[in-house]
Amino acid sequence: MKWRNPRQFMRPLLRVQRVNDIALETLWQQGFRALIIDLDNTLVGYRLLEPAPPVAAWVRAAQERGFALAIVSNNVRAWVSAVATMLGVVTYVHNALKPLPFGVIRAVKQLRARRSQTVVVGDQLFTDVLAAKLLGVRAILTDPLVADEHHAMWALRLAERFMLLGAPRFEPPREAPGDARDP
Ligand SMILES: [Mg+2]
Repeated sequence: MKWRNPRQFMRPLLRVQRVNDIALETLWQQGFRALIIDLDNTLVGYRLLEPAPPVAAWVRAAQERGFALAIVSNNVRAWVSAVATMLGVVTYVHNALKPLPFGVIRAVKQLRARRSQTVVVGDQLFTDVLAAKLLGVRAILTDPLVADEHHAMWALRLAERFMLLGAPRFEPPREAPGDARDP
C-alpha cells in the first residue's frame, strides 16, 4: 500500500455532498460494479423516517445500471431492513460494527463482488471510510445529510475535518432540481 501518513491512508476516492451526487456512469466506466452504502445520514437523515426521493431515485438508477448494492449499517435490524425494503435493496448487514471491517466483508461476499470493483459510500470518515480502507476497498465520503446529529459527534467531526485538510471535494454542476446528474 502506498501511503506515508494516516491522512493519506484515510483519503477517500471522492468527496461529495450527497449520495445522489455520485455519478454512476463514471463509476461504472472506472470499473466499479458494487456499492456498499451506509444508512444513517448517508441514505436517510438523522431522525428522519424515510429516504428522500432523489436518494431513492439514485439507488434505483444504480441497480438498474447493473451495480450490485448493499446497505451496511451499525444500526439495528428493524430500521436497516425497513429502509432496505423502502429502497428495494435486497442485501443488507445490520449491527455491522464499523469501522471493524466484518460487515463490509459480509456484504462483499453476499454480493459476490470483487473488492477491487467495490466502493463503500458513507458520511463518516472514522467509520465508513476506515472500514473500507482496512480492506483495501475504495470509499466515497458524503456530507452528513442532517447536520444536527447526536451531540457526541462534534469531536469526531472536528477530527474528520483535520484529516481531510487538502482533500479535494467534487462539486457537481447544480442543475434545475430534479434533473438527472448523469450525462
Ligand atoms: Mg452514517
